[in-house]
Amino acid sequence: MAPLPTASAIDLAGNRAPRALIDPFARHITYLRVSVTDRCDFRCVYCMSEHMTFLPKADLLSLEELDRLCSAFVAKGVNKLRLTGGEPLVRRGIMTLFESLSRHLKSGALKELTLTTNGSQLEKYAAELKGHGVERINVSLDTLNPDKFRAITRWGDLGKVLKGIDAAQAAGLKVKINAVALKGVNEDELGPMMEWAHGRGMDLTVIEVMPLGETGEDRLDQYLPLSMVRARLAERYTLDNVDYATGGPARYMQVKETGGRLGFITPMTHNFCESCNRVRITCTGTLYMCLGQEDAADLRGPLRASEGDDLIHAAIDDAITRKPKGHDFVIDRRQHRPALSRHMSVTGG
Ligand code: SAM
Ligand code: SF4
Repeated sequence: MAPLPTASAIDLAGNRAPRALIDPFARHITYLRVSVTDRCDFRCVYCMSEHMTFLPKADLLSLEELDRLCSAFVAKGVNKLRLTGGEPLVRRGIMTLFESLSRHLKSGALKELTLTTNGSQLEKYAAELKGHGVERINVSLDTLNPDKFRAITRWGDLGKVLKGIDAAQAAGLKVKINAVALKGVNEDELGPMMEWAHGRGMDLTVIEVMPLGETGEDRLDQYLPLSMVRARLAERYTLDNVDYATGGPARYMQVKETGGRLGFITPMTHNFCESCNRVRITCTGTLYMCLGQEDAADLRGPLRASEGDDLIHAAIDDAITRKPKGHDFVIDRRQHRPALSRHMSVTGG
C-alpha cells in the first residue's frame, strides 16, 4: 500500500493538529453521515421489516457523546455533517444536538449541517432547524398517492409529510425530495412527482433499491434499474446532463420542460465509489467506512476511555486506512438474500 499522505501540522501554540482524513486511494474524507437513532415511526417496505427489534436505549451514544464524536471528525477536516437514522427527528432532544453542532457552522469549520428525514415531524421542527443553521434538507417521499404511501411506509401518513414539507419551505429551508424507484409501485408516478417537486422549487433525486437487511419483502420484486426510469422519462421530457455536484453520489440532469433538476443515484447499475468522500457512524458509535461493506471500527470504546480526543482521533485514523475501494452490491437471484444483513436504518441512508 502506498504511504498515506500526512496532513498533520504544528500550530502556533506547538500543538499537533489532528491529521486530515485521506484514505489509501487518495480520497479526502470531508463528509460524515451520522445515524442518531435506529428507531423510526415508519416501516418502509424496502428498509425495515414490520416487526423490527431495535437496540436497547442503553447502547446508544448520548447526545453529548454524539456531539463529541462529530466534533472530532470536524477537527479532522469533515466540513459536511448529515444527521440521519432511523428517523433523526424521533430521537428525543435531537434539537439540542443541532444547536450544539451549529457552533461549528459559526466557526466556519463546517460548511453544512443537514439531515435526511421522512418528514413526519417536520411541521414541528422546521423553524427550529433553520434557527440552528440548517439550510437544505432531504425529505424521502416515494409517492403522492395516500394509499400507496401507506402501503410503502406501512405506518406513515402522507398528509402529515406534506404539511411538514410546507412548513420547511415556509421556514426558508431548501428541500430536496428523494424517491426510491420501486418496480410496479411508483414507476408510473415518477414523472408527475418530478413535475410536482419542480413546480415547488424542489429538486428530485431517484434512488435504486439497495439490498440491505431483511425486510420481509423480495428485493427482486422491488428492484427497478434507473436506466429504465431514465429512458421512460426521456420519452416525455428533455433531459440534459449538467455538471452539478452536491458532494453526493447523484448524477444530475436538467429538465427542459420543468426547469428543475433531476438526480439519479445508481448504486446497483453504476459504481459511484471512485469519488466517495464520506464515512458513516451509527448511533452506537460504530464507524462504517463504506455503506456496502461489513468492515467497521468501534469508536464508542475510545470515546468513553478518556476525556481527551487523542484516542478517538487515533481510532479514526486507523479506520480510514481501511476504507475500501468500493462496494459490490448484487441482488442475487440464486440466494435471494440481502448483500448485507445490516439495515439501512442502522448505518443511515
Ligand atoms: N428516516 C429517514 C428517511 O427516510 O429519510 C432517514 C433514514 S433513511 C434509512 C434514508 C434514506 O434511505 C431514505 O431516503 C430511504 O428511502 C433510503 N433507503 C432505505 N432503505 C433503502 C434501500 N434498501 N435501498 C435504497 N434506499 C433505501
Ligand atoms: Fe424509517 Fe427512513 Fe427507513 Fe422509512 S426509510 S423505515 S422512514 S428509516
